[in-house]
Amino acid sequence: MIKETRLVENFLDMVKISSPSKNERAMGDYLLKVLKELGLEVKEDNAGEVNGGNCGNIIGVLKASGKKKYLFSAHMDTVVPCEKIVPVIENGIIKSDGTSILGGDDKGGIASIIEMLRVIKENNLEHPEIIVVFSMGEEIGLLGSKSFDIENYGVDYGFILDSSGKPGKIITKAPSAARGKITIIGKPAHAGISPESGINALTVAAHAITKIKLGRIDAETTSNIGVVNGGQATNIVMPSVELDYEARSLSNDKLENLLAETFEIFEKTCDEFGAKLENNVQVEYPGFSLDDKEDVVKIVKIACEKVGIESETASSGGGSDTNIYNSKGVPSVNLAVGMTKVHTLEEYIEIKDLVNLSKILVEIVKG
Ligand SMILES: [Zn+2]
Repeated sequence: MIKETRLVENFLDMVKISSPSKNERAMGDYLLKVLKELGLEVKEDNAGEVNGGNCGNIIGVLKASGKKKYLFSAHMDTVVPCEKIVPVIENGIIKSDGTSILGGDDKGGIASIIEMLRVIKENNLEHPEIIVVFSMGEEIGLLGSKSFDIENYGVDYGFILDSSGKPGKIITKAPSAARGKITIIGKPAHAGISPESGINALTVAAHAITKIKLGRIDAETTSNIGVVNGGQATNIVMPSVELDYEARSLSNDKLENLLAETFEIFEKTCDEFGAKLENNVQVEYPGFSLDDKEDVVKIVKIACEKVGIESETASSGGGSDTNIYNSKGVPSVNLAVGMTKVHTLEEYIEIKDLVNLSKILVEIVKG
C-alpha cells in the first residue's frame, strides 16, 4: 500500500524547501495545499503572529464522526544551515551534499504522515478522526505546540513523529527541563587599592556552587552550569558574574524541589556576602512518563507487530512537542523516524525507515 517512490519524492520536495524556525511560510503553504488536495479540513492558526514568525501551525482534520480522535504531528522548522539543501541518494540513504543539514528532522515525520493520508484515501480505509498538526518553531522552544489549542479538538491519543532511532522505538518518557541565567551582582572596587570595599561576585558564586547539587543527581535528574561569564580586568574586584544553568528530571516534582533548593542556596549565600541575586531560570517544558500499559503505547506496539517491526519503549533526554501535548492532557508518544545525526551536516535517513514508519502509521489508523 505504501508507494515508496511517491514517499521519497515528497520527502525530497520538502527538504528542498528552506524552513528555519519562525520562517516556515513556504513549507506551510506547501502543506496547506497538500492537505487540501487530500480532502482534509485545513486551517492555519495564529501561532506565527503570537511567536513572531511568518507561519502558524498548519492543521488538517479528516473527519470520522463518532470515532476516536488521533493526533498525528511533526514540526515544519529545521535548525540551520538550511538555506539551500541539496539532497543526495546513495545506497538507499538520503543525505545532504554536506553543506547543510538534511532536515529529515522533522520532514521525515511529515512525509510519513502525508503518505499515511494518501494510503487512507487511495484504499478508502476506515479510520479514526485524524487531526494533523504541522507545528512551527519547535526547535527554538516548542513554540507552535505551546500555542496550539489542542484542548478544542477533543483528541484521545497523540502520535508525534520526532525522535531519532529506528521506527519501532516509542518514546514514553521525557524530562521536564528548566533553563536560564543566575546572575550574582557584587560590588566593583580597585583590586589593589581597596579590595575590602568590593564584593567579588565570583567568590560568592563559588561558595554557592560548592553547596548546590550539580551533575547526575539521581537516575532521573541532572543539572549543569554550562557557561560562566564575568569580570573586566585583573585589577577590578569582579562586580558581577552570570551562570547559565539548566536542570532536567523525568519527575516534575523532583525538578521543582531541586530548583527551590538551588535558588535558596544562592539567595542565602548572596545575603551572607551582601551581594544581589537575579534569577531568570524557568521551566521550559514539563516532562511526561507513560506506562507501557497505556492505550496509546499499546496501539503503537500492536501496529508494529502487524507490520513485523520490533517495538521498544524508551526515554528521551530532551523535550519535544510530545511534552506539551501530554501536559495539555493528551496521552502522547514520540515515535522514531529514522533520522540520524540530526542537527549536523552529516544528517541522513534511510529510505527503508521512511517506508517502515509509514507502514506503522497506516496500521495505527487501521487499528
Ligand atoms: Zn525534531
